[in-house]
Amino acid sequence: MKDILTICNKCGGDACYEQHLGENYKIQLCYGCGFTTNSLMTLGSEFLQEQLETLPELYKDLVVEDSNGQHWMPSYTKIVDKGMIFANGKDASNWEWTAVKAVPIPKEEMDRFPEGSTYKMDMGNAQNYNEFDYMDALDYIGAFNLENT
Ligand SMILES: [Zn+2]
Repeated sequence: MKDILTICNKCGGDACYEQHLGENYKIQLCYGCGFTTNSLMTLGSEFLQEQLETLPELYKDLVVEDSNGQHWMPSYTKIVDKGMIFANGKDASNWEWTAVKAVPIPKEEMDRFPEGSTYKMDMGNAQNYNEFDYMDALDYIGAFNLENT
């Protein structure tokens, strides 16, 4: 298994995180455009078909095919103790990234969460980012701060 940064086939940026999880399987997540794909997301594949049936409408609208026939969709990131980032909006021409920070669950609310939970997503601090500012959204939730994990 090796993780590398490559050129993104969707946006052309150079911050596409590529993860090889087996002989013929890799996942790509671009920190530039926030889109993701994997080896199974090719035209006509069963996996892609399934995705297209279960994805939220906006995500479906935003799926694009690159020059290699790979289909890219917006990522949905959730890091329990940091926060989450998802595509949010009416349609493909009118959407943004929404980043929500995780906060420690106050003691008095503990009983409303599954046992062992320590963080909750605090919608009160949600921030919206332009579609090309995915990196800023990652930064906002502290996805790059690994020292306290
Ligand atoms: Zn990209």
